[in-house]
Amino acid sequence: MLLKSETNKINEFKQILDASQSIVITTHHNPDGDAVGSVLGLYHALKTIGYPVIAVTPNGFPEFLSWMSGCDQVIRYSENKKAAVAAILEADTIICLDFNGFKRTEEMGDVLSQSKARKILIDHHPFPEDQFDLQFSFTKVSSTAELVFEVLVSSFGNDVFTTDSAICLFVGIMTDTGSFSYGCSRGRTFQIAGELISKGVDVERVQGLVYNNFSADRMRLMGFSLNEKMKVFPEYKAAFISLTREDIKRFNHKMGDTEGFVNLPLSIKGIVFSVLFVEHETFVKVSLRSRGSFPVNAVSQKYYNGGGHTNAAGGKAFMSLAEAENNFETILKAYSAELNG
Ligand code: 5GP
Ligand code: MN
Repeated sequence: MLLKSETNKINEFKQILDASQSIVITTHHNPDGDAVGSVLGLYHALKTIGYPVIAVTPNGFPEFLSWMSGCDQVIRYSENKKAAVAAILEADTIICLDFNGFKRTEEMGDVLSQSKARKILIDHHPFPEDQFDLQFSFTKVSSTAELVFEVLVSSFGNDVFTTDSAICLFVGIMTDTGSFSYGCSRGRTFQIAGELISKGVDVERVQGLVYNNFSADRMRLMGFSLNEKMKVFPEYKAAFISLTREDIKRFNHKMGDTEGFVNLPLSIKGIVFSVLFVEHETFVKVSLRSRGSFPVNAVSQKYYNGGGHTNAAGGKAFMSLAEAENNFETILKAYSAELNG
């Protein structure tokens, strides 16, 4: 098991929790399924044992995640700064999930930096920063939720998982692996999914709530994006989809509506690199995905002020959408050998 060599850290983890009067669990800005699933999965488990936990996120999350038990207990910094700041500054322990540096929480990062709490990291991104007192950082796991499972089961045994906790962790693993289709070649991911299912996850229901719960507008935006806004570069095995603010408005965009669009071009035969540009008021949000060894985190770090994993990364371009599209062709030229290698 992954954490066998981590016995000392597991003991330290439990000691820190036992000594805490207030434990904040938090994650990155614009939390995705793995972020929300990890926060709530850990929240439910620790709460059941009796630990004083508070869940805080930098901002809200999309509707396709808002059905999860415990969502209404989460303090959202962007909507309730006073309560979020108080929780963070009064906590003696802060557990940071699914991010590797305070910057990923955007404005809330300053409050995390001010806090004197012990910071525990549970995360699967490469290159964690050194702001954390105790780190469970593994890039081989499918998702942070999988790692939260490992830390919990090593610390407290299998009975710690309530059905609510199991459902949330399952959502984390399911969404970060595109429904168990990538990043899950280690059999352990499926073992853990099986353990969670045995705790009462109704897989069909959860799949339906996450993937078959969209508005008609969102489906139309997806069709429009593929039909009119996707540009394919077969010579570079790459493609992008680019959406203006007007496009987004036209289809009554709600938070989370473009989630997953960046993966769509990867279904085209031969395409290994896909990018989604979404125009915002002061920047262009860039999402990058790849198949195989092409490192999109390196591309994002170099060109888009961002980072992430080898096959999934994000960042921002501080330029017009047209410039971002034009620059992309230059970037493709620079990576031509790697993309065709
Ligand atoms: P998405 O494209 O879904 O926004 O992000 C995909 C992945 O890229 C995230 O899970 C996260 O690991 C990483 N990521 C997204 N945005 C940023 C960013 O602004 N900075 C860094 N360092 N990583 C990001
Ligand atoms: Mn993740």
